[in-house]
Amino acid sequence: MWVPRRAFLLAAAAAASAPALAQVDVGASSSLRRLVPAETLEASATQQYSQLLAQARAKNALAPAGHPQLQRLHAIARRLIPFAAQWNERARQWHWEVNLIGSKQVNAFCMPGGKIAFYTGILEQLQLTDDEAAMVMGHEMAHALREHARERIAKSKATGLGLSLGAQLLGLGDLGNLAANLGTQLLTLKFSRSDESDADLVGLELAARAGYKPEAAVSLWRKMGKATGSAQGGLAFLSTHPSGPDRIRELESNVPKVQGLYAAARRGG
Ligand SMILES: [Zn+2]
Repeated sequence: MWVPRRAFLLAAAAAASAPALAQVDVGASSSLRRLVPAETLEASATQQYSQLLAQARAKNALAPAGHPQLQRLHAIARRLIPFAAQWNERARQWHWEVNLIGSKQVNAFCMPGGKIAFYTGILEQLQLTDDEAAMVMGHEMAHALREHARERIAKSKATGLGLSLGAQLLGLGDLGNLAANLGTQLLTLKFSRSDESDADLVGLELAARAGYKPEAAVSLWRKMGKATGSAQGGLAFLSTHPSGPDRIRELESNVPKVQGLYAAARRGG
């Protein structure tokens, strides 16, 4: 007799990860991600992030605290972060970090656990306005909040590609080794088209709630599209983030859904 009720409760729990007040329609995160422990993935990301910062520091490419572009990124992050926990309760405990790396690469990311980096190439080559930089940050934060890396790694385990990781998940190895294995994967992870679309819409909503102009999502991806032909110093980001007409059309059709949030944020509430 308890079986149908239990099934109902499980279904309710699975759907709970999309916030009730969301204006964009993205549904719940994949439950497959639970195969990878969030704590382990976040610890691994922290380790990989500090290695990356150490490498940048050694090359004198890590922006110091007083760098005006870094201060600008910190100001944007301070406005976006208060809205993060609506998408993932874990974000309340994250130690958010934002860094700027001097590099021609058009690149930016947010690793699991809230570790954000921008490369000077994305700000300079695309001449991003604050609203557009907020859309990039919102998009990257959305990948972390929606746990796309966790889901990707769980899926690669499920298809037998991450054998060592799979063995770890089955309790056949030690956790330290697992963290080391995951760390190298995080920066080269390629998200699916549906993850990208999800991050676009969640990022758009986060930025609108923080008072950034929704139309900037559209102008940002137009700039990305143009840069694809002319960018110097690495096209990694642009190749994993194709800026086609579908992407721009989807964002355009979602702008009206978040205009109310943007207007309310501008009014101060
Ligand atoms: Zn993305």
